[in-house]
Amino acid sequence: MTKKLTYSILAVAVVAVVAIAAFLFTESSKSSRFIAIGTGGPTGVYFVVGNSVCRMVHKEAAEGRKTGRKHGIRCSAPSTGGSTYNIGQIAEGELDFGVAQSDWQYHAYNGSAVDKVKEFKNLRAVFSVHPEPYHIIVGANSGIESWGDLKGKRFNIGNSGSGQRGTTEVLMDGYGTKTSDFAVATELTSTEQSKALCDGKIDAYGYTVGVPNAGVSVATDGCNAKIINLTGDVEKTLVEQRPYYAFATIPKGTYKTTDSDVTTFGVMATFVTSADVAEDIVYEVTRAVFENLDDFRALHPAFANLDPKNMIRNALSAPLHPGAVKYYKEKGLM
Ligand code: GLU
Repeated sequence: MTKKLTYSILAVAVVAVVAIAAFLFTESSKSSRFIAIGTGGPTGVYFVVGNSVCRMVHKEAAEGRKTGRKHGIRCSAPSTGGSTYNIGQIAEGELDFGVAQSDWQYHAYNGSAVDKVKEFKNLRAVFSVHPEPYHIIVGANSGIESWGDLKGKRFNIGNSGSGQRGTTEVLMDGYGTKTSDFAVATELTSTEQSKALCDGKIDAYGYTVGVPNAGVSVATDGCNAKIINLTGDVEKTLVEQRPYYAFATIPKGTYKTTDSDVTTFGVMATFVTSADVAEDIVYEVTRAVFENLDDFRALHPAFANLDPKNMIRNALSAPLHPGAVKYYKEKGLM
């Protein structure tokens, strides 16, 4: 009898301990939740987008600690391979958010370029960020003035996983150019390409990126590389036929060698997530960004013209995440 009673007390105690431990575990995971944002190369603008978002999330956390409005989110924004890598990793659940070109957001959601980015129906848009013109940057003495001049040259098509790699391939398809048409088609990352150009290892590279940009200036201001115009029939057709492309200008004076406006086509950088990411997390991240938009604009010259109305409307082809919609409705933006 006594033995039985001891066992029952023991059993109750074990259940209670397990219940308390489970409660504490849930509470602690609620009070510190980690999110990861996929960016691009460390000299690009995506890296600044991701780290600016984390900064605003942490700022809201610090303010919340004073006012009792806690969100408990800890954020990191590592450098990655770029757009299509980020979308792929969000689909795998390895990243919670990412920055991605609007063309690859469109293709991932619609499954319309599965050789470059896998179909991902659970992709969700949060907002769009800055414009990203597609640049072809050529060596000072390369003699390259148009796409056609790239034939027989050493051209960096970019690392796989980067947005520019995909957009370069779209342009190659449009022009009927094969990799074998280049003397060499290198796959350097955005961090390596400007130095390779200045060291004379390549003649040109393609890069989809916000303006201005530290990586590009290494080549333009460092070794007089130039950015060429891309306004031919191929680019006109792309802009006419595809909703996510538009003509874009890199203004005169942006870099040392831009002595006149450069016209090319381009996309928008967008901030995306998965339908599987919890509504309150997306709400808090969206809120942190939009409540601190002035700070955001000041963090990089490419963000200077961010306008909330455009950010929630332009260049988004995947549906908005419900967590973002909740905030936009609350603020009367939708
Ligand atoms: N657009 C590039 C990409 O998708 C990245 C540009 C950047 O890092 O700012 O890979």
